[in-house]
Amino acid sequence: MSPEVQSVMRSFLLAAALMGTPLAAQNAVQLQVDATGAPQRVLHVHMTMPVHPGPMTLLYPEWIPGEHGPTGPIVNLVGLKFSNSGQTLPWKRDSVNMYAFHLEVPAGASSLDVTFDFITPPESSGFTSGASATSELAVLSWNQLLLYPEGAAADSLQYQATLKLPPTWKYGTALPIQRETGGDILFRPASLTTLVDSPLSAGAHYRTIDLGNGGNSGPNAPHYLHLAGDSDRAVEIPSEVIDEYKNLVAETGALYGTRHYRDYHFLLTLSDHVAHFGLEHHESSDDRVGERTLVDPDPRRLNGFLLPHEFTHSWNGKFRRPAGLTSGGADGGYDTPMKGDLLWVYEGLTEYLGEVLSPRSGLWTPQEYRDWLAITAASLDREAGRKWRPLEDTAVAAQILYEAGDDYAEYRRGVDYYPEGTLIWLDADVKIRQLSGGRKSLDDFCKAFLGGPGGAPALKTYTFDDVVATLNGVQPFDWAAFLNQRLHSTEPHAPLGGVEGSGWKLAYDAERSDFWKSYEDDGKLADLSYSLGLKVKDDGTIIDVSFGGPAHQAGVAPAVKVIAVNRRQFSLTILREAVAAKAPVELLVKNGEYYENRRIDYRDGERYPHLVRDSARPDLLSDIIKPKAR
Ligand SMILES: [Zn+2]
Repeated sequence: MSPEVQSVMRSFLLAAALMGTPLAAQNAVQLQVDATGAPQRVLHVHMTMPVHPGPMTLLYPEWIPGEHGPTGPIVNLVGLKFSNSGQTLPWKRDSVNMYAFHLEVPAGASSLDVTFDFITPPESSGFTSGASATSELAVLSWNQLLLYPEGAAADSLQYQATLKLPPTWKYGTALPIQRETGGDILFRPASLTTLVDSPLSAGAHYRTIDLGNGGNSGPNAPHYLHLAGDSDRAVEIPSEVIDEYKNLVAETGALYGTRHYRDYHFLLTLSDHVAHFGLEHHESSDDRVGERTLVDPDPRRLNGFLLPHEFTHSWNGKFRRPAGLTSGGADGGYDTPMKGDLLWVYEGLTEYLGEVLSPRSGLWTPQEYRDWLAITAASLDREAGRKWRPLEDTAVAAQILYEAGDDYAEYRRGVDYYPEGTLIWLDADVKIRQLSGGRKSLDDFCKAFLGGPGGAPALKTYTFDDVVATLNGVQPFDWAAFLNQRLHSTEPHAPLGGVEGSGWKLAYDAERSDFWKSYEDDGKLADLSYSLGLKVKDDGTIIDVSFGGPAHQAGVAPAVKVIAVNRRQFSLTILREAVAAKAPVELLVKNGEYYENRRIDYRDGERYPHLVRDSARPDLLSDIIKPKAR
């Protein structure tokens, strides 16, 4: 931040103080969003905000909570215009901070009008900055549709939003509504923090399902599932899946013992033309999957843990948050860089709990849970990058790793604090159960660490030492050493102590699990990482090679295209059967404009990971994933 910007920030705060209660509801920033152009992917914004004469800096949100990086899509803000009483005011973007706009508020002015358009991009990945609208639906993230004055804390700024949607579209959001008139939705004034934390989904094919208040197993609050699809068929959710989501609500009550929200809204978007991800909020989650996820078994299985994961973040990530991840809120705006070193708690523990809640809720069978755990364990256990990059560095580097390519991913390592978090927290769960003679478990840690008074959203930050102290309160042990060893290790193998201690072993055979088949079929690929050492799409493009594996040793690179297998035209079946024949495989590949023959001297047949029971140890894993609320 430049010294000039610092002084502007101070003058704004002074102006705010002089105005008495300038940030109270009656002085809320009026934010009008016209989303009737959503099918054409242009949203129109008009803001009216209280100001004082003098220099002023307005910011566009940059560090978006939950996205763990500077992902605010500033490049798609266009048509920007500032005015007062009809007079256009010149502005200048800061030369260093691309998210900052400087202007001079004229003498006598008490309000500022800001207009701009936001271009919501066509088919693209990424988080909320990716594709968010089709001709049939849209997901609106308020951080993309507003500016805020530099120097003020997001908690202290009040915004009152008005939204116009395409006629006939329905919608859902956690943002409280004041009234609807003539196609305009007027929301109640809310802090900037709450507004940014409360996205909205809308569409022509829309259903809202009441998931109840959590039943008798724990604290009560209303829960809703909002479905926005690209077709009526997409939102035809089977009744048994609704029951599983109701179970999920009950299971979180049993696991966490409290709820840190007034009501909770799952915004589930079903489209092949929006970015696919989940993003957590205190009182909602923005969950985006393929159009047929609720109606076809493969994508439903693959996405089974998505809602449990994002829901868990209401406790772990929103209520409890690492001290370095508090963008927005009480301390400032969305211009503070995030520090990701504790993401193995924020995301890693959430990954473990989201996966455990899936079989507890019935969203996965126990076999599906174990098949997924085998995939996680196997992929981490053979990563060449473990020898140079400790797990903690994948968390510190989160903001650059989300966009990393698929090529040589095992050597680079990706956002491993998610899947390896699963292994570490399973390990901790098993350790607590063993040391306490079965009287305690990680569920007790969750109640202690993630519990609290509940009710409206709140934030309680933590450090590494807080995590260790809470674990010690549940079960005395040298938890600092336990965690540090796993976070800083450059050993070649993954921490499989939890898998083995829970009575199971990672093993490989020639049979694909149902989960593995879903993963390959849904992705239109064959994953031969544990045999030939490559992963290939159905058009022959090699997604990646296992670093140091047979294909890599034979000179095959990622991103080349397989043309033929043993002189015959490539298909996934031809390649898989060539591996199963237990004889060297000859590939003709196209590398740029050149063709290459690669002979892979691999003779051990197909290999896919599974968990197999170790009868020498008690089966703790089956206890861990049993329903607790029913
Ligand atoms: Zn997450």
